[in-house]
Amino acid sequence: MKALDELTFDNRFARLGDAFSTHVLPEPLDDPRLVVASNAAMALLDLDPAIAETPVFAELFGGHKLWAEAEPRAMVYSGHQFGSYNPQLGDGRGLLLGEVYNRAGEHWDLHLKGAGQTPYSRMGDGRAVLRSSIREFLASEALHALGIPSSRALCVIGSSTPVWREKQERGAMVLRLAHSHIRFGHFEYFYYTKKPEQQAELAEHVLKLHFPECQEQPEPYLAMFREVVERNAELIAKWQAYGFCHGVMNTDNMSILGITFDFGPFAFLDDFDAHFVCNHSDHEGRYSFSNQVPIGQWNLSALAQALTPFISVDALKETLDLYLPLYQAHYLDLMRRRLGLTTAEDDDQQLVERLLQLMQNSSVDYTLFFRRLGDEPAALALARLRDDFVDMLGFDAWADAYKARVARDGEYSEEQRRARMHAVNPLYILRNYLAQNAITAAESGDYSEVRRLHEVLSKPFEEQPGMEQYAQRPPDWGKHLEISCSS
Ligand code: AMP
Ligand code: MG
Repeated sequence: MKALDELTFDNRFARLGDAFSTHVLPEPLDDPRLVVASNAAMALLDLDPAIAETPVFAELFGGHKLWAEAEPRAMVYSGHQFGSYNPQLGDGRGLLLGEVYNRAGEHWDLHLKGAGQTPYSRMGDGRAVLRSSIREFLASEALHALGIPSSRALCVIGSSTPVWREKQERGAMVLRLAHSHIRFGHFEYFYYTKKPEQQAELAEHVLKLHFPECQEQPEPYLAMFREVVERNAELIAKWQAYGFCHGVMNTDNMSILGITFDFGPFAFLDDFDAHFVCNHSDHEGRYSFSNQVPIGQWNLSALAQALTPFISVDALKETLDLYLPLYQAHYLDLMRRRLGLTTAEDDDQQLVERLLQLMQNSSVDYTLFFRRLGDEPAALALARLRDDFVDMLGFDAWADAYKARVARDGEYSEEQRRARMHAVNPLYILRNYLAQNAITAAESGDYSEVRRLHEVLSKPFEEQPGMEQYAQRPPDWGKHLEISCSS
């Protein structure tokens, strides 16, 4: 285990120089204190979890202290926001403190979000509030525990610093970890500002550090783009299979690594609703749950445009065309598993679609349906689940088709079926109302609920005695919480 002062830095992005980022020091928060830390994320840096409770930890991640080897930089990027190009974005309130490598030789970016103003803050105050910092922390660690690629979160540091949103709130910082903070928008920035040399440097940097296997390919940049397409198809398949709604899929929020990145008004579905829009500023539903699939492709084509200096348009188009079939294959594979199926049949897609339509019509809880389907032998589980459907006859017809499909799937014991299904169907997800309860307590100075919720969500597939209340459907007040875009 390492102490905090034993982290080893290797600031590769900072070395790209001032065309890519600007040196900025964090602006400290008043009275920094630990709200919550992730032991699993501490382990990624070889850090002893116990040191999260020490005052120096809160000082470091509350912006008061810095390692001598850290080189805090605000990165410049641009991007398409809600379909329109915004030529000037960048880290307006976050800083890349540096890149650390662990004993396993992995590099991790330390990114401090809420660290104060930068040259890219535009009209913003450079701050993040406690509420949104807790949401980002919980979501990144919960997604990871579900097996969904995501940036990680080391800790949230709270403070007494006043920050104005719709009302006065308190400032906080979240320390985010990722192998890279490079977004689609980084490539767009150098493309649209017509800086071919820096554009080439950026592409070379990403290829060498993050897609080294592509260097062996006859067309390394094309191979890299293909890998980005594949990773995004897989990522979005996982979002759709597990009911995760990102909310702000602007190209500046899309990681080049294909991980879930930049959390705003995200939500996990409670009731299944294909048309669900979690961001209440998204009036047209551009980023609705089901639109995430075509938007994934739209975003990749925005990236493709920025890569035209390196790759022929035909090759880019051909590669983009891989997205949808790859997405569909991953999605169907995940949904088969969620249904407990081990083989593939041509009609499985239809079986899934019919189920989702029934769930949609009856507002059935998306997570609990699958969990309960695996609790008992199929016939028993279906008989119990039937009560949740308004169209019972429609459900019966589906249930018959499902039972027949299960019978064709193969011979396995009920115990095997349950274990297999419970391993892919979570009992605990980050429901908005659970996050809200934790936030309300934290805002009054009680961090125990955030910590408990984080613990529960770190083992989403395991039944945890005494934690039954975290597996419930939302109460009425918690069903339609409007999550503000302000953060
Ligand atoms: P987001 O919606 O958080 O992805 O942010 C979009 C852009 O606005 C990024 O360039 C952010 O750095 C910037 N931004 C968001 N909130 C603030 C803030 N409070 N102060 C300064 N910049 C911000
Ligand atoms: Mg962003």
